[in-house]
Amino acid sequence: MRVVIAGVAGVGKSTVLDIVSSRSGYTVKNFGTVMLDLAISSNMVSDRDEIRKLPVEKQIELQRSASETLGSMDNIIIDTHMAIKSPNGYLPGLPEWVLRKLNVSSYFLIEADPKEIKKRRDEDPTRHRDNDTIEDIEEHQIVNRQFAISYAVFSGATVNFITNPTGHPEIAAEQIIGRLA
Ligand code: AMP
Ligand code: MG
Repeated sequence: MRVVIAGVAGVGKSTVLDIVSSRSGYTVKNFGTVMLDLAISSNMVSDRDEIRKLPVEKQIELQRSASETLGSMDNIIIDTHMAIKSPNGYLPGLPEWVLRKLNVSSYFLIEADPKEIKKRRDEDPTRHRDNDTIEDIEEHQIVNRQFAISYAVFSGATVNFITNPTGHPEIAAEQIIGRLA
């Protein structure tokens, strides 16, 4: 079985996923890392935060290849994004051709207070985060819900909105574990 877990940058997804993978039989696979390996080997980028700035058709090409790799693996949690903020607008992380390959049974969207997310991004020196305002982050979280719902209609999968409370990622992790089959 495959499930998708997404959330905006800085929501605390990696922390929650570390707990989920240590307490469940699922392995976490990062969609962006699969894309990055492909992009580096064809000299398109040198850093994961450059991927979303590539021409949209290049991003879709990498996305398609990554979905082929991940669609052949079982018992995985796919760490990815419902909507990627590209310079040309929100890019769907799971367009129809990706959904067909991945054939997932559930979507989990990790959410948090936009003010907290902004603070976490400002304190993270390891990534080249976009300079989003609190309102931009709020909009991105709303758009993520809308994309998640449309993917579910297409694939007949369940949708879960999970809050990651500040300082208590284990609460979010346990909610996810309780809903994994
Ligand atoms: P992450 O470390 O999860 O932010 O992933 C790195 C980058 O990979 C993201 O900023 C996106 O540019 C790209 N990426 C991840 N998942 C997808 C996807 N499903 N579709 C398109 N691009 C993606
Ligand atoms: Mg992460």
